[in-house]
Amino acid sequence: TSADPVLSLSDVTKEFGPETAVDGVSLDVKPGELLTFLGPSGCGKTTTLRTIAGLEEPTEGEIALGGETVAGGGAFVPPEGRDVGIVFQNFALFPHLTVRENIAFGLDGDADANAARVDELLDLVDLPEHGGKTPDQLSGGQKQRVALARSLAPEPEVLLLDEPFSNLDVRLRVEMREEVRRILKEAGVTAVSVTHDQEEALSISDRVAVMNDGTIEQVGRPESVFERPESKFVASFLGRASFLEGHLRDGKVETGIGRFDAVTLEGYDTVYDGAPVDVLVRPDDLRASPASAEQADGTIVSRQYVGPSFIYRVELDSGEVVHCLHNHVEEFDLDEAVRLELTAAHPLAWY
Ligand code: ADP
Ligand code: MG
Repeated sequence: TSADPVLSLSDVTKEFGPETAVDGVSLDVKPGELLTFLGPSGCGKTTTLRTIAGLEEPTEGEIALGGETVAGGGAFVPPEGRDVGIVFQNFALFPHLTVRENIAFGLDGDADANAARVDELLDLVDLPEHGGKTPDQLSGGQKQRVALARSLAPEPEVLLLDEPFSNLDVRLRVEMREEVRRILKEAGVTAVSVTHDQEEALSISDRVAVMNDGTIEQVGRPESVFERPESKFVASFLGRASFLEGHLRDGKVETGIGRFDAVTLEGYDTVYDGAPVDVLVRPDDLRASPASAEQADGTIVSRQYVGPSFIYRVELDSGEVVHCLHNHVEEFDLDEAVRLELTAAHPLAWY
């Protein structure tokens, strides 16, 4: 049926000698979905992508494409036998071919059919006037559009993109994220991308698989992995995070800056009163105001201007340090004492 996964990884493991680059990765990708592997450098993202393409053979586990086993269980279909397109980091355009010739490269129809398909793709990637140019006459963003068009032209079952924005400057990167998502969605292709950039993963993906040390720590929609991280690793990798020590008392969490209701993750019922917990606090969960005679919670130890706001680091009396985001109109000085208030309704806690 149409809900069957286009791509399915079951317990995929890849070892290089003594090193385990990918360690038991299981995941289904649905038709038309854009899934991103997100994780720090060296966590196994590229290796995972290469096993999907057939450029690496898994040491263990199985991979199925369109319901057919392409790796594992005694099977191994080489890259050219898999219906998979790849967009390379450096775009890998043929420098001596025109844009049209680059896009037509993987097509095997007759000349008229190929020309019609190239026209379609030039429209899709918004380069209808540029078909006769060679790559050296294109900007970085235009090269990326051509690279996408070329890999989409043969209508692959799955499109793979490894750090597709790393060769673009920061401003263009942000602009192209939106464009690449639009193009993939209009093409209706199933796509798997890889990045170490959390903002990029959150902004382009239907789902994000957060990887750490060869394993998937959490998979979910961008909002859910950001708002409900299931581990401290995921919480810190997706955004600036401070962790406060707390204790459970009467169903609430007590910390150095007050008591509050906490959304807890696992095993709440089994935890005894007074149990220690780690509480995730993001910079915009905290509000700082000048200390009063009655209340001072901490001292500003550093501050950083980040566009319209400041990020303050505040050292609490306990010695713990938290980050606090603040509007620039209320500036605090270094060493100034402040009160802190938790504004978020649901800080997260781990046992
Ligand atoms: P990422 O793309 O997340 O940065 P990689 O998949 O490239 O990570 O690498 C994961 C780990 O596997 C790294 O420690 C890397 O050094 C190792 N690795 C990758 N490819 C090879 C290889 N061909 N031979 C040996 N080790 C490799
Ligand atoms: Mg990589």
